[in-house]
Amino acid sequence: MRGRRSRRTCILSFDDGQVQLLLCLGDAAAWLPEIVAEVDAFYLDGFTPAKNPQMWDPRLFKAMGRMAAPGATAATWSTARAVKDGLRTAGFEVAKQPGVGGKFEITVARHAPRFVPKAWPSRRQAAAKERGHAVIIGAGLAGCASAWALAEQGWTCTVIDARPHPAQETSGNPAGLFHGIVNPQDGAHARFNRAAALEAHQVFASLLRDDPTLGQLDGLLRLDSSGRNADQLRAQLVATGLPTDYVQGVDANEASTLAGMRLHQAAWFYPSGGWMRPAALCRAFLARAGGKAAFVGNARAHELHQADGQWLVRGMDGQAIASGDAIVLANGGDALRLAADAAWPMQPVRGQISLASAAGLALPRIPVAGSGYLLPAVDGTAIFGATTQPDDTDPTCRDEDHRHNLSQAERLSGDAAWSTLSAAKLQGRVGWRWVTDDRLPVIGGVPLPRPMLEGTRLDQPRFVARQPGLFVFTGLASRGITWCALGAQVLAAWVTGSPAPLEASLIDAVDVARFASRDARRG
Ligand SMILES: Cc1cc2nc3c(=O)[nH]c(=O)nc-3n(C[C@H](O)[C@H](O)[C@H](O)COP(=O)(O)OP(=O)(O)OC[C@H]3O[C@@H](n4cnc5c(N)ncnc54)[C@H](O)[C@@H]3O)c2cc1C
Repeated sequence: MRGRRSRRTCILSFDDGQVQLLLCLGDAAAWLPEIVAEVDAFYLDGFTPAKNPQMWDPRLFKAMGRMAAPGATAATWSTARAVKDGLRTAGFEVAKQPGVGGKFEITVARHAPRFVPKAWPSRRQAAAKERGHAVIIGAGLAGCASAWALAEQGWTCTVIDARPHPAQETSGNPAGLFHGIVNPQDGAHARFNRAAALEAHQVFASLLRDDPTLGQLDGLLRLDSSGRNADQLRAQLVATGLPTDYVQGVDANEASTLAGMRLHQAAWFYPSGGWMRPAALCRAFLARAGGKAAFVGNARAHELHQADGQWLVRGMDGQAIASGDAIVLANGGDALRLAADAAWPMQPVRGQISLASAAGLALPRIPVAGSGYLLPAVDGTAIFGATTQPDDTDPTCRDEDHRHNLSQAERLSGDAAWSTLSAAKLQGRVGWRWVTDDRLPVIGGVPLPRPMLEGTRLDQPRFVARQPGLFVFTGLASRGITWCALGAQVLAAWVTGSPAPLEASLIDAVDVARFASRDARRG
C-alpha cells in the first residue's frame, strides 16, 4: 500500500528489468490524475459505457490528453458514441477498424491535438534520454541505489566517489534500521514514508536472497513515546485505516514476546521493518547493476561542464573524471555546491552511534526504537544510538555522546546493565545526516538557475523548468535505508522519462523544485 489507502502501486520486473510493469491498483478515477507518465499507446478495456459508466468519466479522457506522448495511439473494443466523442475532446483523431475475435468493429485513435499547452513540459524532454550513460557523484546509499534503479531502466553509469570505496561516509555505519511511520493526518510525509518502507522491504527481500547476511526483515518495534496504551494505538489505526500487515498496536506483553526480552511500554509493530548493513547494501546495489555500473574511487568532483548534450565532471586539477548524458548528484550536502545556485533548505545534523560487545547484554530479537534505537546483536556487537546534533562539526567520537546513547538504551530496554558500561571503553562512529526543513528527501531534475526562472510558471513543482540532464537525490536524513530504494526509482524515472512509481502528489512532495514553488507562492 504505497499511496493513499485506496491506491497502491506495484512494479513487476521481467527479463532482468528489460520489461517493467507498473500496476496502479485502485479506482481508475482516483488514479488517473495521479499517474505521472508519458504514454505511447492506451488500451481501454473497461466494458461499454452502458455497462460501466464510471470508467468512461470525462476525467478519463482529460487524463489521456495530459499523458499522451506526441502521436500516441488508443484502442478500445467499444464503438459507443460517447467513447469516440470523449477521445476527440482529448485531442485524438478517431477511426473505426474491422474488429478481431468475433467483434465487428473496434475504435482506434491517434493523438493529434490542435493545441499543445506550453506550460506542461514533456517528461521526456526533461529526461536525458530513454537509454544513455549517467555519471553518479557519490557512492553512498543514494548513489548506489540510483545505479541499480538506472540499470533496471537499461542505463549504464559511472559511480564516482571522493573516497577509495563505496559507503565510507554517512552510509558506512555497521547497521541501521528501517520502517514506516504512522501519523493521524496521513499527509504526504506519512504516505511517502509508507511507500518507501514497503518498497524497501520488497527490494531488500530480493537482495537478501543473494546474500542473507545483509540484514533482517523480521519486523521492528517502535515504543510509543506519548504514554498511550495499546487500545489507544489500535483506535488510531482504525481511524487511519492502515492494514495490520503494515502496522499494529501492541501492548507491553506482546511487544516483549516479539522482542524476545522484557519491554515496558505499548508499541507500534511494523511487520515489514527490520535492520540492514548500509555499506553492504550499497555494494549489493552495485552488484545488482552488474556490468551496467562502474565504480571509480578517489575521484572528487570539483566542477561540472555541459556542452552539446554531454556532461563532463572535472576534478580539482581540471582533469576529466567521467562524462555522460546525465549527472546525478548523490553526494550529500556537497550537491548544493555542485548544483550552482542551489538554495535548498538542508542542514547537516551530526550523529554518533555506540558499539559494545554483546556479551552479557540483553538484546532484542528485532530492532527496538523510540527515543534512540537498539539493534539485535550484529556479529557479536551491540549497536545503539544515536545522537542528534545540529550545528556540530566535531568528527571525533565523544564519551559524553556514548553516555547519552547508553542512557537511551537503558530507557528503551529498562535494563540497568547498560548503566554499568564504561563510555570510555565503547567504540563508535560519527556521521552527518542531511535534513531538509520539511523532513523529506530531495529528488528530481535540478531547476534552472533562479534568474532564468523569472517570468516562468512556478506555482507547482511539476511546472518548474529544469536544467537538461542534471538530477539530484539527496537529503536522506535519518532514513537513508528506508528511502533509498523507492527514492532511486523515482530518480530513475526522472532521468529516463519512464513512468513514475509513485503518485503525482508525492512526486511533488519530494521534488527538488518544491522549494522554488514554495518561495514563489509566498511571494
Ligand atoms: C549516527 C547515524 C545513524 C543513522 N542511523 C540510520 C538508521 O538506523 N536507519 C536509516 O535509514 N538511516 C540512518 N542514518 C542515515 C543514513 O545513514 C543516511 O541517510 C544515508 O547514509 C545517506 O546516504 P547518502 O548516500 O545520501 O550520503 P553518504 O553516505 O554520505 O554518501 C555521499 C557520498 O558522496 C561522496 N562525495 C561527496 N562529495 C563528493 C564529491 N564532490 N565528489 C565525489 N564524491 C563525493 C562522499 O564521499 C560519500 O561517499 C543514520 C545516520 C547517522 C549519522
